[in-house]
Amino acid sequence: MTFNRLLDEIHNYEVGKPIELVVREFGIEPSSIIKLASNENPLGPSQLALNAVKESISNLNLYPDDSAYDLKLALSQHYQISANNLILGSGSDQIIEFCMHVKSYPNSKALMAKTTFAMYEIYAKTFGVETIRTSSDFHNLDEFYSEYQRHKPSMIFLCTPNNPLGECLNKEDVFRFLDRIDSDTLVVIDGAYQEYALYFDDKKGINPKELIEKYSNVIYLGTFSKVYALAGLRIGYGIARDEIINALNKVRPPFNINSLALVAAKESLQDKIYLDKSLQLVKEQMPLYCEFAKSHNIKYLPSFANFITFILDDMADSSKVCKYLLEQGIIIRDLKSYNLNAIRITIGTKSQNERFFEVFSRFLEQL
Ligand SMILES: *Cc1c(COP(=O)(O)O)cnc(C)c1O
Repeated sequence: MTFNRLLDEIHNYEVGKPIELVVREFGIEPSSIIKLASNENPLGPSQLALNAVKESISNLNLYPDDSAYDLKLALSQHYQISANNLILGSGSDQIIEFCMHVKSYPNSKALMAKTTFAMYEIYAKTFGVETIRTSSDFHNLDEFYSEYQRHKPSMIFLCTPNNPLGECLNKEDVFRFLDRIDSDTLVVIDGAYQEYALYFDDKKGINPKELIEKYSNVIYLGTFSKVYALAGLRIGYGIARDEIINALNKVRPPFNINSLALVAAKESLQDKIYLDKSLQLVKEQMPLYCEFAKSHNIKYLPSFANFITFILDDMADSSKVCKYLLEQGIIIRDLKSYNLNAIRITIGTKSQNERFFEVFSRFLEQL
């Protein structure tokens, strides 16, 4: 059969292995499997969100509110912006797709970091947009600027904190960079982990209100999949000026957010105690990973998100490490698909992290 030729270039996104697969392949009890692979929040959703989901189950026969009035109102209050500056996506992934769609035209290019979220390139390929990458391992805004001048891309992706490496730009540097970008280039600030960054270091936090007041060509992306623990419901949002939101709405399918996601997201936003507890857990547990790495002479990348990346160099093969852990019921993320001999581990609960340290130590001892 003949398909769109652009598909030939696309490699499927490698997702963190689901728990169900480990149950099937290794016959391990679901309850003893630990998933530290997809940067989910191990505490599970806010009780307020769970209650709201239970209540709205009785309306599943109805299409959801396509205007998402209540959730947009809650988000607009949360960020002190107008509801007209919001778009919702089935995960912020879907908004990346919308952005790529509206900015794809002959010769359009997307500029991004050498090692960054894989979905940018996948969507670029879907729409025939050429991908340009900077050459440093981490986001380097001087390089971004020189590539911008050279290639005149239609879009620039800044992932801050960056998945999968964990580095984070300073807010001031991002704003200074934006000052130099022309208004026809759409700059996507992917803030999937911004809540963590802001909690760890207030120089890193990017305020979407300030961003869109200053710049007409920027969109900020947020998600409920990470700190709000709603990955299974698929909901994220974009914040930008009306002109951008209106364009994105033209390619947004109707009812792209399901009714359970709408209510759960709204309630999650109100639960400040839950948010604080989730952030606190990562702040407390992250240093244990750094100490573990140091004591085993493993290079690690300081992280401003809820995961940490260990660079294994010639110590061990990352796929072997992942396989060993998987057989013991621990799922982490192999970064081979990013051309790195490295592993990315999501910060889990105290007991999950202890189990990871125990099993990984055992692996290291037998080297
Ligand atoms: C997880 C993640 C997203 C979005 O995830 P959704 O579940 O689609 O909202 C976006 N960007 C980065 C960098 C991520 O890590």
